[in-house]
Amino acid sequence: MTLTAASSRVDNIRRSLVSLKMPRALEMLDATLRRIEQGQIDGIEAIDDLLAEELSLRENRRIKAALRMARLPIIKTLAGFDFSFQPSLDRNRIMALAGLDFINRAEVVHLLGPPGTGKSHLATALAVEAVRAGRSVYFIPLADLIAILAKAEREGTLREKIRFLCRSSLLVVDEIGYLPVTPGGGNLFFQLVNARYEKGAMILTSNRGFAEWGDVFGDPVVATALLDRLLHHAVVVQIEGSSYRMREHAALVPENVRTIANINPPPAPKRRGRPPLKAVADLSAG
Ligand code: ADP
Ligand code: MG
Repeated sequence: MTLTAASSRVDNIRRSLVSLKMPRALEMLDATLRRIEQGQIDGIEAIDDLLAEELSLRENRRIKAALRMARLPIIKTLAGFDFSFQPSLDRNRIMALAGLDFINRAEVVHLLGPPGTGKSHLATALAVEAVRAGRSVYFIPLADLIAILAKAEREGTLREKIRFLCRSSLLVVDEIGYLPVTPGGGNLFFQLVNARYEKGAMILTSNRGFAEWGDVFGDPVVATALLDRLLHHAVVVQIEGSSYRMREHAALVPENVRTIANINPPPAPKRRGRPPLKAVADLSAG
């Protein structure tokens, strides 16, 4: 091919990339052509590289948009979770959940445990895995969920709101049990749970055991009906450990608070040389 013919071909490619809306490939075109000229890659590799670049840009954009739609309060990953800090937690079980079959089976995953044990972290990380895999996700704390359902009911749009909340293949309801549920809230939550039952997967996090749900929802009848649906096709993950938030300061937290919140001081650092001072030993013991 003559030099002029080649340069007119490159102009064609450039125009095609613009029409096809492939900004990343367009951006990489000159550098890729240079690598061909220098004999670093051949034509097939060049086409492959340009398409791969464009695809990865699109994939990243898709994930970013889907994460925004999912309304995750913060991004957490499984890679960022220190399983060694939480020995009661079976890593393999969490990794199996990350395979996302529970979404296909429309199951409910319960993450239970005291504050700071990583329930929201794990729920968010599983939600991120689902988004990466192309599943639609919606994340909401229970108090907010009940507030929007109550508002919809007042405005006569409850059915539409429930339909909207049934659209995502995974609904994460965080923080069940932290705040008292407003009167009628349990009933509204039940209507949503019932609408998703056996159709859409959920992850629920709670610091309260199922036996306490009557108190949490202020109504034992509603709590029983909720648990009937929520435990039918369910995976229950109980975390027994201590708070990750408090791990560095546990020694400063009074004993009675520590017992309630299940906070333990971090293991004492291994000391070499001189035996520990008595004052230090007392502090970390009490
Ligand atoms: P919970 O929802 O159980 O109250 P969170 O998931 O919000 O607790 O965890 C509290 C903080 O500690 C978060 O910043 C979370 O990322 C972090 N965290 C908790 N457990 C771990 C862990 N095992 N490894 C790494 N970070 C953790
Ligand atoms: Mg939480």
